[in-house]
Amino acid sequence: MLYLVPTPIGNLEDLTLRALRILREVDLIACEDTRTSAKLLRHYGITTPTTSYHAHNEARKAAELVARMEAGARVALITDAGTPGISDPGFYLVRACLRRRIPVVALPGPTAFVPALAASGLPTDRFVFEGFLPVKKGRQKRLAELAAEPRTIVLYESPHRLLRTLDDLARALGEERPAVVARELTKTFEEFARGTLRTLHAYYAAQPRVRGELVLVVAGTGYRPDPEWPRDRAIVISSYTPETAS
Ligand code: SAM
Repeated sequence: MLYLVPTPIGNLEDLTLRALRILREVDLIACEDTRTSAKLLRHYGITTPTTSYHAHNEARKAAELVARMEAGARVALITDAGTPGISDPGFYLVRACLRRRIPVVALPGPTAFVPALAASGLPTDRFVFEGFLPVKKGRQKRLAELAAEPRTIVLYESPHRLLRTLDDLARALGEERPAVVARELTKTFEEFARGTLRTLHAYYAAQPRVRGELVLVVAGTGYRPDPEWPRDRAIVISSYTPETAS
């Protein structure tokens, strides 16, 4: 049995009771980074043995984990943050398990794009999750496809590529397209910046450095935002409260 166990994306309280029980009960926890996960496991007093499973050892390690599961072991997969399999190496192991008819149980829980989309203020009834845009090969083609996308677009991006991506999206989708940057979700300095691709670029270009983790939410083509949507400059709302501090 393989359990996919979502872990907090910042605030350590965001671990479900079921996740806690499964992490305590399994024989082995496969972690994307054992040192990162050690903090979480220590916080909750979980002493289950761990092993590493990440993008650079996935083929060898998946075979090893599958052999353990075929011998009867119950394994939980956790990644550095959020739901295993969402823009991280979970998929390979899931496929390897299913090929051998090993049951895969996915627990519901934290994932960064859901709170970003839910609080974005852009339509949530239909959306497309694009993960990370290709950095080089295929980037222009993907951008051209997104220009015709009517659903809300959700992207992951690293802080050092944010300006380039906002710029590329503005060229492909139009600089007045409404968009939102959700940064440091569930962490002490959580903030939502709402504006257009142009004004968000201007806002972040004026910062000394963009830090932290972020999700980019962009309106689909044809969407008419309500008249109050910030168009002239980005409006940044920091949602820090003592309760969101991790
Ligand atoms: N498996 C994860 C999930 O379920 O969301 C995603 C893993 S992916 C390697 C990491 C990316 O997720 C980051 O670059 C960022 O775009 C997004 N992310 C993770 N934690 C976040 C947070 N606290 N706030 C905003 N974005 C976050």
